[in-house]
Amino acid sequence: MSHHATETVALRRQTMPARFRATYDAAMSGRSRKKAVHAHCYECLGWEIGHETDCTSPACPLYPYRPFVASPLTQNLSDEARAKRAARATRSFQT
Ligand code: SF4
Repeated sequence: MSHHATETVALRRQTMPARFRATYDAAMSGRSRKKAVHAHCYECLGWEIGHETDCTSPACPLYPYRPFVASPLTQNLSDEARAKRAARATRSFQT
């Protein structure tokens, strides 16, 4: 990564709320496409906890992959199990 790119990444990381930096770091490591989508969606939604499902742009190519929407892996979860997953994910951003 060039010096300019490194500085740009550091600046972007510095200006986001601290709770999102681990997700951003995972995304920027190149090891998690899922974290990259989540980091992008959180940024797009203004870094606001609790607004993960507020996206109103179904034409966005990331829309099917945005955080906290039912995927084929979670469609059959009970409401209680889904709430636990959401709470666990929210806690991970509060540490
Ligand atoms: S899916 Fe929605 S929140 Fe995510 S990047 Fe696209 S427009 Fe933004």
